[in-house]
Amino acid sequence: METTQRDCIVVGAGAAGLSAALVLGRARQRTLVIDSGRQSNRDADGIGGLLGHDGRSPTSFYASGRDELRAYPSVELRDGEVVGGERREAGFALELADGSREVARRVLLATGMDYRYPALPGIAERWGRSVFHCPFCHGWEHRDEPLGVLDRGAAGVQRALLLRVWSDDVTLLTEGPAELEPADAERLEQAGVAVDERPVSGLMGPDGTLTAVSFADGDARPCGGLLVPVTLHQRSPLAEQLGAALAERALTAEAVEVDPMFHTSLPGLSAAGDVSAQMPSVAGAIAAGHSAAAMIVHGLMAEAHGLTPVGAGAEDRR
Ligand SMILES: Cc1cc2nc3c(=O)[nH]c(=O)nc-3n(C[C@H](O)[C@H](O)[C@H](O)COP(=O)(O)OP(=O)(O)OC[C@H]3O[C@@H](n4cnc5c(N)ncnc54)[C@H](O)[C@@H]3O)c2cc1C
Repeated sequence: METTQRDCIVVGAGAAGLSAALVLGRARQRTLVIDSGRQSNRDADGIGGLLGHDGRSPTSFYASGRDELRAYPSVELRDGEVVGGERREAGFALELADGSREVARRVLLATGMDYRYPALPGIAERWGRSVFHCPFCHGWEHRDEPLGVLDRGAAGVQRALLLRVWSDDVTLLTEGPAELEPADAERLEQAGVAVDERPVSGLMGPDGTLTAVSFADGDARPCGGLLVPVTLHQRSPLAEQLGAALAERALTAEAVEVDPMFHTSLPGLSAAGDVSAQMPSVAGAIAAGHSAAAMIVHGLMAEAHGLTPVGAGAEDRR
């Protein structure tokens, strides 16, 4: 059964979706936020590098984001999952996993991404704590510890040199012949980065901590933090199914393409946060959600008054 048409449905209540809902609520837009509660950094102990909330637990951060929305009567927050949807002349109809359907004039995808890391035993239970993909998020917590970088090629060299910002003791773990360009080998040596080519067999340390990496030959090397490569994928086919174009980027294998105003290739459909981001971060997702929501309000206002839809240069008018 379909319910009343909303101005906007926000799919996802992570940093991007909550930030967008706050802006939409403050602009008195009839907004439904639907969230399946799997924000990508939930495994981490704290959020690193978020002004005003540095080190705060993700659980507490998302709970207060939800609390703030209660002040805005036009916003409804619902736990659930959007499993499909279609574009209609006046907007969108979205299908939820519980069989209900919701309609809105605009949809904002803030669904985050699935971070895929290497298939190494022991990563899952340490993910976001002692094993991480982003040194800006977790490097500080592991400063001055022996650190490892699981990677190879030019990316491995670059990430190992980057990790030297946080520790003098960095090892590049290439799991096979490093095959380094002579100039890169020289750079690593100059920076004091060790290179270990042995296949890594597992990770050691209790309760989500890391004390050492173990090798297939039975040896182990002390390690307090391990940087691993990830690729980001869509969590579901929803964006594609709705008709949004995807693009491959450096880190995100399937980012939703957006213009500077967070509009996707499909009129009426916006996207913000990891789902369309080049460099994922909580601060970036908050900023994107905020701007995307403001642009949605501009667009609805333009539509209501027969103005030219918000176009290039619209950001300058805020
Ligand atoms: C382990 C880890 C640690 C990190 N640590 C940091 C850090 O310390 N500092 C930092 O700045 N960044 C960190 N990041 C990156 C940061 O978490 C993300 O960039 C940011 O959370 C993205 O926010 P988002 O709102 O776009 O997506 P998310 O936070 O992933 O939220 C998306 C929400 O949408 C929901 N959703 C998805 N699909 C549907 C659907 N079909 N229907 C309904 N709901 C749906 C999800 O369940 C989720 O709740 C970390 C990432 C990871 C993986």
